[in-house]
Amino acid sequence: MRYRWIVLVLLISLFALVFAERRVLLVNWLAATGSGEPPPLLAKGDEGPVARWHDDYFTIQEVAPRTFAIGEPRYAQQNFSYLIVGDSRALLFDAGPGIRNIRRVAESLTEKPIVFLPSHFHYDHVGNSISFKEVAVVDLPYLRARAEGNRLTLGRSEHLGALEGFTAPTWEIDHWLPVGASIDLGHRSLMLLHTPGHTYDSVSLWDEENGLVFSGDYLYPGELYAFLPNSRMGDYLATSESLLSLLPDNVTFFGAHRAEPPGAPTLTSADLDDLNKSLNGIKDGSVKGEGSYPRLFPVNDRLAILAEPRWLQDWD
Ligand SMILES: [Zn+2]
Repeated sequence: MRYRWIVLVLLISLFALVFAERRVLLVNWLAATGSGEPPPLLAKGDEGPVARWHDDYFTIQEVAPRTFAIGEPRYAQQNFSYLIVGDSRALLFDAGPGIRNIRRVAESLTEKPIVFLPSHFHYDHVGNSISFKEVAVVDLPYLRARAEGNRLTLGRSEHLGALEGFTAPTWEIDHWLPVGASIDLGHRSLMLLHTPGHTYDSVSLWDEENGLVFSGDYLYPGELYAFLPNSRMGDYLATSESLLSLLPDNVTFFGAHRAEPPGAPTLTSADLDDLNKSLNGIKDGSVKGEGSYPRLFPVNDRLAILAEPRWLQDWD
């Protein structure tokens, strides 16, 4: 009789563990059953008159003075990273998956020293095997606590590189940037915004003078991912509210992926407002999703959110 109780307790514990770790298990399962390598490159398409090809892989678009979108339109996820140049130094926000070396592209655009800052730690943003002269990350207490001195190794479920065969990098961190920090590039400053939702470690950059926000994977045209191991719907909603109260209503958002060519992916303050409304609707049940897992919830004709079914969503 006692054995039955032990088996029951073990089964309940196992179920609780699987339930709590479901998103990590899903990613591990996808990694184990996938090809374990990057998808084949897409054909070189028409990038229109606004962008030029740097080589047969990268595109460059000057989206504002001294502000370059470096595109990887042949990579399946169509990543865009941003080089923001000041009088004394430049900042590279994201680095793509490292299939090709974006550092050389950035160095062809400026002679200023370049500091690399990832919008978050997913493998398609951190450059993986690329070495950077200077690396900055957001100074979140759990990251600082885990770093050995200034050495930080990305965790498996915050990097997700096993999906395409990338090994998580270890960085020597040169700059731990506090949330809200003003990053001085020399007569040009950027504010570091903590924008969790897609992942807890996600950050965005606000160039107030030029009305630009570089929003990483928090906001880009297409389907936003809010069901990954570090995603949280409550964070997505809270970030939309803090951005709406902080930012003027005429900024341009530059995201890290695009849905279709040509040009860098942009959205407006109205899109952020629509995202906020949709998140509130998903929370109260008035906005319905489609599909099983993840479910696709509509925002507007440019945006949608991929999230878990409502009963699994974490809003608190
Ligand atoms: Zn991501």
